[in-house]
Amino acid sequence: MKNQSLREKSDKKPGGQPGHEGKTLEFLDQAGKIVKHSPTFCNCCGNDLDQASNVLLGRRQVVDIPPMKPGSIDWEKQISRD
Ligand SMILES: [Zn+2]
Repeated sequence: MKNQSLREKSDKKPGGQPGHEGKTLEFLDQAGKIVKHSPTFCNCCGNDLDQASNVLLGRRQVVDIPPMKPGSIDWEKQISRD
């Protein structure tokens, strides 16, 4: 059997409706991890740039959910001995 939505059918177009104000996801102040991409050699002359000082050119942030890990709880039923 095919998956079926439990929602009722609507004549509206899919997606945001007119009049609904869009909102861009804002950057989180504190990134969980920062990955720097810097050139290791010059595109023009091929010089080694390992020791060169770099300037930030741009930034993008990807928000992701870490992989789910199963957790378990042992429920122990106890009884008083006296
Ligand atoms: Zn160069």
